[in-house]
Amino acid sequence: MMQVAQILTRDEDTRICILSAVAGVTNKLVSFAQESARRGDLFQDICLQHKKIAHDLEIEDLSGSDLKALFEGLESFMASSLTPAQFDEVLSFGERLSTTLMYHYLKVQGHPVVFWDARHFIVTDDHFGKATPFPDQISEKMKAALSQLQGHELIITQGFIGATVLGKTTTVGRGGSDYTAALFAEGLKAEQLNIYTDVRGVYTMDPNRVTGAKFIPHLGFQEMAELANFGAKILHPATLSPCFRANIPVVIGSTFEPNAGHTLVTALSPKPLDKKVPVQAIAMRKDQILLTIKSLHMLNAHGFLANIFTILSNHKVSIDVITTSEVSVALTVDGSLNHAHGHHPFSNPELLQELKAFADVAVEENLTLVTLVGPNLSQHVGALQSVIGAMDHVPIRLICQGASASNISFLIPATHATDVVTHLHQKFIES
Ligand code: ASP
Ligand code: MG
Repeated sequence: MMQVAQILTRDEDTRICILSAVAGVTNKLVSFAQESARRGDLFQDICLQHKKIAHDLEIEDLSGSDLKALFEGLESFMASSLTPAQFDEVLSFGERLSTTLMYHYLKVQGHPVVFWDARHFIVTDDHFGKATPFPDQISEKMKAALSQLQGHELIITQGFIGATVLGKTTTVGRGGSDYTAALFAEGLKAEQLNIYTDVRGVYTMDPNRVTGAKFIPHLGFQEMAELANFGAKILHPATLSPCFRANIPVVIGSTFEPNAGHTLVTALSPKPLDKKVPVQAIAMRKDQILLTIKSLHMLNAHGFLANIFTILSNHKVSIDVITTSEVSVALTVDGSLNHAHGHHPFSNPELLQELKAFADVAVEENLTLVTLVGPNLSQHVGALQSVIGAMDHVPIRLICQGASASNISFLIPATHATDVVTHLHQKFIES
């Protein structure tokens, strides 16, 4: 909290702070909502955790009545079984508590601060647990509220939560503080959005996997999106889409080491790398499944692709990479159990049965998708040749290049993945 306060006040151009819950609190609130038998204990735990922070920050007296009102609000859910709307209401206490603490802490230090309840601004639909925000209404609300401010107050508000037009509390999905921060940035026409997280920014490869991984100071939105889509564990670009829309640069840095550098993400990609093959970073995704689907009707099977996509879509299975030839299609889907998007392809056996009604289907598992990312990489003369040349001992199951200008992806057996990635990183990034 002290560290965050320092970050917030070190630059007087910082106008608004969108805060997530205190570490671990949202998980406790989820358990509170789901396990009625443990509610009493969890409630005590959450109260104590926040009281202790208030004590350590020496704001017990000032924040006391606000905290008490919030604790009582949470306590009112002790007895009932919860509707989806109440579930979101319960989750909202994490951010409402953390912002209450931060507001009083800054105020006590003499900083001009105002407290905004994000639910007055982040207007969403009523899809509780994963609500969709309405950017136009958000911008309008903010414009009105900004005109009420005196001057240079720092606004403290909550991430993750919003409300329907009728005022029912909603949440935008776990980890959603970054997303609502981007919505606030868009609504305020901010000059920049700074995201403070637990890593310094984006690396050329997961530093836990490749020792030579290098930090990337500047990245285009497009390349950042490719990296996140293809497995790098950084902010998902969907969370930043309001900033892409509004062309607001995003800075990703570490809360714990705010001076250790950061990655700047902008609409314009940085100057082309001065390299023979302009690879900027490498990502990998494990647990990929390859489906090879051949039409039983052979040529002139119009509607073949449409059928396949309809079935996959009906089962909410998200496709990542596709190649096609006349009567067959190969596509990859994410087979990890905690898949980031879509459903596990085989969670419902009917998917394969439906496909087999009009096609031959082969399934291969234990594959890894490796993706090289760089501005205009796939259009770079000789890039693909060099990449494939560097892997002459590896059975490549599928290659995708050309659909996106900034990536080349290929699918290989999982057993080769670490060697391949280390080798490609050495060849194209370290040297
Ligand atoms: N506190 C929420 C969560 O843990 C939102 C966030 O952290 O971004 O999911
Ligand atoms: Mg969080």
